[in-house]
This record gives sequence, C-alpha cells and structure tokens, in this order.
Amino acid sequence: MAVHAVSRLAATSSQGEIAPATMSAWVLNNPDELALVTKAAPRPGIAEVLIRIDAVAVCATDLEVISQGPPALINGGPPFNQAFTPGHEYMGTVVGLGPNVDEYQVGDRVTVEIHAGCGRCKRCREGMYTACHNYGANYPGNDKGHRANGFTTNGGFAQYAVNHINTLVRVPDSMSDEEAALVVTAGTSMYGFTELGGLLAGESVVVIGPGPIGLLGVATAKALGSNPVILTGTRKDRLAIGAKLGADFAIDSTAEDPIKAVMRLTGKGADYVLDCAGTEDSVNQAIRMANRGGKICLAAFPHGPVRIDLAYAVQNNIYLYGIRGEGRSATHRALALMATGRFDAKLIHTHTFGLKDLPEALRYARDRVDGAIKVIVKPQL
Ligand SMILES: [Zn+2]
Ligand SMILES: [Zn+2]
Repeated sequence: MAVHAVSRLAATSSQGEIAPATMSAWVLNNPDELALVTKAAPRPGIAEVLIRIDAVAVCATDLEVISQGPPALINGGPPFNQAFTPGHEYMGTVVGLGPNVDEYQVGDRVTVEIHAGCGRCKRCREGMYTACHNYGANYPGNDKGHRANGFTTNGGFAQYAVNHINTLVRVPDSMSDEEAALVVTAGTSMYGFTELGGLLAGESVVVIGPGPIGLLGVATAKALGSNPVILTGTRKDRLAIGAKLGADFAIDSTAEDPIKAVMRLTGKGADYVLDCAGTEDSVNQAIRMANRGGKICLAAFPHGPVRIDLAYAVQNNIYLYGIRGEGRSATHRALALMATGRFDAKLIHTHTFGLKDLPEALRYARDRVDGAIKVIVKPQL
C-alpha cells in the first residue's frame, strides 16, 4: 500500500481558482487490492468542473466493483490494474471550471449524480442516461463520451474528481456534507417511483428490504404523500429506522408472513411495491403483495436468474419495472425534499472515516460492523 501524501497546490489557473497539481487517490489494482497513491489531479474539460470532494458514501455496489469488477467497465474491460479510482456517491466544492462553464462558480457546493451518459444515444436523449446505450464507451478508439464516475471514469475515493455539469446538483448551505452525500441514494429511490408513474399521494406503497435505498424509498414515498407506507425486512434495528423515516407499518418478516401482513393492512394489496432486496423470494413476494393493476419496481440486482410466478403477474395485470440508478433528474427532486426537511436522511449515516482509512470504512460497510448502514469517507480529513 502506498504512502498517504497530501496534495500540492499548483499555480493559479486562468479562471482564478487554485488548481492542485497532484492529489491522494485510491486506485484498484487486483481484485480487493486498493492502494493509496499520489497521482495527477484531473483537469476539467468542456462542460466539466473540478470538484474538491468533501464527503463520499460507501455503497454496496462499490464493494462489488472492488471485488468483482462489474458493473465497472474501464477501457472496455475489467477495472483492475488501470489506476482506476472507484467511489460514486460523493459531494464537494467546485474549485475549477472547464472552458466556457458559467453554470457554476468556484466555491459552489454540489452533490453529484453518477451518470452523465453519452448525451447522444436514444436513451440519453429521453433522460434515461443511466441506461445509456454507450455505457463505458469513453476511451480512444471507442469514445462516445460516456461518463459514470466510479464505474466507467474515475470516482470519489480521492481528494478531487472531474464531473460533467449535467451531473451536478446544488447543495443549500443548510445541508451538511454528510447529508448531501446521501442525496443520490434518495435519488435512486425517487427514480424508481418516477418510473412507476410518480403519482404516489394517497396510494399504498410497500418497500421490501431496509437497505439504504429501501429506507430512503420509505422516506421518499411518505414525503410524496403515500398512505400507507409499509416496510418489510428481517433486521429489527433497520425496521426501527424505517419507522422514523415515515413507514406507517414496519413488518418483521421473520415474525409474520409479509404477504399476509400487506393484505391485512391494505385489503387488496399494494398499489406500488419497491423491491430493494433482489432475491427470488422478494420478487415473488412483490408479485403477491401487489394488487390487481399494481406496479412493481425492481431496484436491486439479483445475483443470478430468479424464477417468478409470471402467470400470477400477467393474470392480475401487474406491471414489472426494472430500474437502474438515478435517471430523469430524480436526484434534483430528492434533494428538494431533503432540503425542505421532509425527511432526515442522516438517520442512515452511521460512521465516518478519513481518506486513509478507506479499507476500514469498506469493512464496516461490508460486514455491517457496529450496525453500519451508510459509512461516509471525508477525503479532506
Ligand atoms: Zn451507489
Ligand atoms: Zn447515451
């Protein structure tokens, strides 16, 4: 593991900001082998800004990228031994502007969406930039301009990163760095509800799985007026946090059949189900919990093929939606709810580490040490 080094400051650039020459950043060597190195700080290009990263949250997908590679895709291949910096749920301060950028100023606090997409394919043009047809195509010989920081371009386990202005969301002064780093998680939940049609007021919602997206899914659904909001899961401490975030009912599926519980609470089943567990059991539960004409959002990645009761779904006119990430500017809407205090996302932030302690931060997140839910790294510490 390389020695931690503090970044040097280079000469003031033409835009007047202080641009660092080098920075500390973690890079992924072999699977599960991260090294803290000093590397050249990135420079913002057209339609880009340089961000000093003030907080970055660890996500379960980071753990998969670091161990297995996908969905990260660097130079058309696995992300190993390419000086690739993972980390994608970050916020920070704009410290440099690319040519002709006037949409943001040096000093602006911003949080980021992960995917800029290519901006030129059919799905990007529809606002579905998380489902870009040119995913990973951003290297010489196959450069379509795709960016998904922490997946196909360098991410946030570093002191600085470059972001396309389309991925930036302004952070109000009233919001802490830690809370702002959670906006994209809430944005993923919001994207799920957006794709289901978005008209949640007065409708019943079930969230399966009290992970970060599930918990903020509960909060988002409640803030959008859903009633009742039902959370199902097996971990009592997390169900309790779900109740604080707005779940009208938190069902312990080890104590009560969650399908029966939803039928008991809703009569005919839920109008919307957000599956944040992604297992064969949870997908089939979602189908059986939905009422006729109900809509299911599949927000978690199953690790293999799953068998589902498709006949039941078809006979009952149940809609199944797969979503990926945080498209259609959902992150902006999530931040709007958080900025007005409609829910307290900080309830899922449990631990904080400095940049050099990233391996420990990852261990806390992976092994849920000390009840860890969202672990945040502060790269300037
Ligand atoms: Zn994530
Ligand atoms: Zn695209």
